Amino acid sequence: MEKIIIAIDGPAGAGKSTIAKKLASLIDYIYIDTGAMYRAITYKALSNNIDIYNDVLMGQLTIESVIEFNSNKVLLDGEDVTRKIRGKRVNQNVSQVSALLSVRKELVHQQRKIGSEKGVVMDGRDIGTVVFPQAELKLFVTASVHERAQRRYEEKIKESATDITLQEIEEELIIRDEKDSSRAISPLKKANDAIILDTTNLTQEESVNIIYNYYLKLVQVKND
Ligand code: C5P
Repeated sequence: MEKIIIAIDGPAGAGKSTIAKKLASLIDYIYIDTGAMYRAITYKALSNNIDIYNDVLMGQLTIESVIEFNSNKVLLDGEDVTRKIRGKRVNQNVSQVSALLSVRKELVHQQRKIGSEKGVVMDGRDIGTVVFPQAELKLFVTASVHERAQRRYEEKIKESATDITLQEIEEELIIRDEKDSSRAISPLKKANDAIILDTTNLTQEESVNIIYNYYLKLVQVKND
């Protein structure tokens, strides 16, 4: 069966990653969480006291870094950073790092390389608009800010991370969305040809099913 590229964009906490991961495993595609790549670079810069406003230094750091996905783990220069990149400091600084041209240039280059063989589900903010404008299937996944905050909060409770309140999570999501949508380079934006999927009242299974059906229709037409 002919392989395609599936681009999933949308605001923070809309459930993109979980949906994309499940979809990829259902159709035996590679899943790439591009947010994790920006998070890994942010984590490394903060850990090494590198000025995250310095475009040149941050670009160098990005080029020198090796980010790998291994099953459900994110490896940075061989170290498992899966949990570390989800911390508060990274959440608060990742939008600044992802606004830098040098960082985006290198990470977009890596993302295009990974997707060059197709058969990939990639989620992020600019996949359908910039990384793969030619993607055969594009989704813009969203949900109300309250629902997104509630889901994040429940995840945190499950992880026994109770250092943050529901209100703090909601405020953090709003600030991050605002920064991601208003930056000059590759802002968070729905591609003209993306399908909007509002998951506020949907379960993860329902969301996956909806995208799966779009995928089936598309590959059937391609194979006819
Ligand atoms: O998807 P996630 O919330 O983990 O992404 C973390 C951050 O990485 C976003 O808030 C955004 O600043 C940045 N990002 C981006 N472009 C992408 C993916 C993520 O700018 N394609």
